[in-house]
Amino acid sequence: MGEFTTVGVVGAGTMGSGIAHVFARAGLRVVLCDVEQRFLDRALGQIRTNLGREVAKGKLAVADIELALERIQPTTDRGALAAAELVVEAAPERFELKAEVFRALDALMLETAILATNTSSISITKLAALTRRPAQVIGMHFFNPVPVMALVEVVRGLATSDATFGAVQALAVRLGKTPVEVNDAPGFVSNRVLMPLINEAAFAVMEGVATAEAVDQVFKLGMAHPMGPLTLADFIGLDVCVDILRVLQEGMGDPKYRPCPLLVRMVDAGWLGRKSGQGFYTYTRG
Ligand code: NAD
Repeated sequence: MGEFTTVGVVGAGTMGSGIAHVFARAGLRVVLCDVEQRFLDRALGQIRTNLGREVAKGKLAVADIELALERIQPTTDRGALAAAELVVEAAPERFELKAEVFRALDALMLETAILATNTSSISITKLAALTRRPAQVIGMHFFNPVPVMALVEVVRGLATSDATFGAVQALAVRLGKTPVEVNDAPGFVSNRVLMPLINEAAFAVMEGVATAEAVDQVFKLGMAHPMGPLTLADFIGLDVCVDILRVLQEGMGDPKYRPCPLLVRMVDAGWLGRKSGQGFYTYTRG
């Protein structure tokens, strides 16, 4: 598998727009696909803003903004992905939705192309089994915000070939990221370790052991975490945290991953963290 020149991204939301950004910035042509034009317009606006931030930090020349944007072809036509040597799927975290996308991509992409997914918790092996190319299916798990975070968890499904793994690992390096190899298991490494920490922090608050502020201070000052686990939970979204904990509980068959009742209650109340304005902390616009 040679160097990639044209890649695709499916889903132009928070993650898909960030992934398209880092691909375009690294000189790749990017076909960015979503279901409606307004999502593509929003993504391109976001990418322009974020490229501007890199200029402000002195990491990019002004002229490179337009060059990077010109490499991105926004489209609502899935057929345009037929030209891509690799596609990263970044559609919402629902198995049936991803399964439909995977079947469709498998039917239209080049026989040699790689199908990657940015899923946080869905089994790579299960998605691969829906295709005729399980050896060319892999997890490419980026972190939010994608242009800033250095890590890519490169997740090998049971059937993922060494050639596919090697090509994706090299691609992550070309994007300026650090790939870390993990095997397919619920939550991979990142969420399997992070979510129980967030959950236990929520239990500590629920049981009155400490306030959210105090829990976060312990981790910031005592463990040198840049942000405490409950600030991070608000950033990720409390609904997303509960969903991932349920995936871990089911996938591992272990009640130790049971979501803390306080987290569940907050989600029921619509307190989803930063995005809803209320979580463990209160957020005001701007
Ligand atoms: P999002 O809701 O911001 O974006 C999803 C986008 O996919 C939307 O623009 C939506 O219109 C589009 N979409 C829906 N159905 C589609 C289809 N059939 N074809 C093409 N596009 C479609 O979601 P997100 O936060 O960017 O998450 C995307 C994926 O990345 C999920 O699997 C999630 O688990 C994973 N992930 C998210 C984060 C995070 O912090 N947000 C971090 C790592 C991984």
